[in-house]
Amino acid sequence: MSTIEKYESVIGLEIHAQLLTVSKMFCRCPNRFGSLPNTQICPICTAQPGALPVINKKAVELGVRAAIALNCQTHLESIFARKNYYYPDLPKGYQITQYEQPFCTKGEVFVRFKNGDEKRIGITRIHFEEDAGKSNHESYGTLVNLNRSGVPLIEIVSEPDMRTAHEAGQYLRTIRGILRYADICDGNMEEGNFRCDANISVRLKGTEKFGTRVELKNINSFRFVEKAIEYEVQRQVLAVEDGEKIIQQTRSWNSAKNITEVMREKENAHDYRYFPEPDLPSLVISVEWLDKIRAEMPELPKQAAERFKKSFELSDYDAAVLTSSKEMAQYFEKVVAESKNGKSSANWVMNELLGRLNAVGKEIESSPVTAGQLSELIVKIDSGQISGKIAKTVFEEMFATGKDASSIITEKGFVQISDPAALENAIRKVIESHPSQTAEYRAGKIKLLGFFVGQVMKETQGQANPALLNELVKKLLDQ
Ligand code: ADP
Ligand code: MG
Ligand code: ZN
Repeated sequence: MSTIEKYESVIGLEIHAQLLTVSKMFCRCPNRFGSLPNTQICPICTAQPGALPVINKKAVELGVRAAIALNCQTHLESIFARKNYYYPDLPKGYQITQYEQPFCTKGEVFVRFKNGDEKRIGITRIHFEEDAGKSNHESYGTLVNLNRSGVPLIEIVSEPDMRTAHEAGQYLRTIRGILRYADICDGNMEEGNFRCDANISVRLKGTEKFGTRVELKNINSFRFVEKAIEYEVQRQVLAVEDGEKIIQQTRSWNSAKNITEVMREKENAHDYRYFPEPDLPSLVISVEWLDKIRAEMPELPKQAAERFKKSFELSDYDAAVLTSSKEMAQYFEKVVAESKNGKSSANWVMNELLGRLNAVGKEIESSPVTAGQLSELIVKIDSGQISGKIAKTVFEEMFATGKDASSIITEKGFVQISDPAALENAIRKVIESHPSQTAEYRAGKIKLLGFFVGQVMKETQGQANPALLNELVKKLLDQ
């Protein structure tokens, strides 16, 4: 057993998700990304003296929607708290958040893996929080942009239930999928509206007690999540093996150097001097409103996956992938609706399209092949116009150029040969040029049939209609 295999990692994630509201959490400024710096601010979100916060009802609704989607308990009464710290992009000197009485606790989510396994990850709590502004560090100094100040967030805190970097990555993808599906959050890590801190510790396999945790920040892309956690786990294992004590600290992922670096020694809750927010009453959610939000819940990925599984005979994993985002599910559903072939649609999307999209770093929304174009290709295979083999070549061309299957087929002369006379000609030629194999076949070695079929396919550049070809080869050899 290698050194690293003697250890087990324990991982818990804290996810910050910006809510898809029109305006901010406590004022009427727009909640919009990418505007000119400091153009979406007001006395409330810039902390002018005397300005008072008022809660945004839509933010609460979206938070409750998240609570329902993540199988949590929603509390009818919760309170806001001040988390005090000083930072240039935090003009109030505190963040309004929830601390002792969050609106939501005790949930769970099920994460699906490629081998079909499923794992339950517990959710400790979800609470509301306002975002801070943003400090942009330039060569000549630091610029503060308060457009983000007061943007509504939910923080989703998981139990320390994950045991590998991959589990953590899949958990994060699952949460993102759910939040995007239910129009709660955009889930864009690069734009910062979906962020994650990873708490990581290691312990010897077989031991119960958790090790001291390190909190990892600044993981600002999905590509880095697993890499950053893997690096940190390895760093901790090597340190422990060297007899070092892990210190509770906050570290930052440096994606240029591929390492984690110390940011600060971990602060404790008492450092923040949390106390109940005096400017806001407690948050009261009525039973009627909760019921209404529940009744209006959109379909969630798990429900869509069940539906797909039943209708199209998909595996659990395939169904999970095809419902990993609403765009993906919509794309797939459109292909099926037009091709009328669920199994084949799933195969083309999973095996041909997603691999290629992945390779060029594109999402399904910007696929060069539209759902309509893919279904047209599948119809052409099913109607016998082209063989499955040719279809792959056509698809490659479609992906590269964005052209329709029919124009590529015409341009390249890729039509399937289904004319018996033309095929018989080609078959006769092959029979004539292979006298010994023909004799062997006729003497009873019938498994040579495949050889002849293969030769004619070669002769016709793969364009022969396979079913017809088989039938005719047999007929002519048996004569
Ligand atoms: P804080 O708010 O100070 O970061 P929390 O108690 O809320 O602390 O825990 C934050 C996260 O750390 C949770 O996701 C939890 O699952 C995780 N966590 C707690 N203890 C450990 C540990 N020993 N190893 C790894 N993760 C841990
Ligand atoms: Mg934390
Ligand atoms: Zn404002």
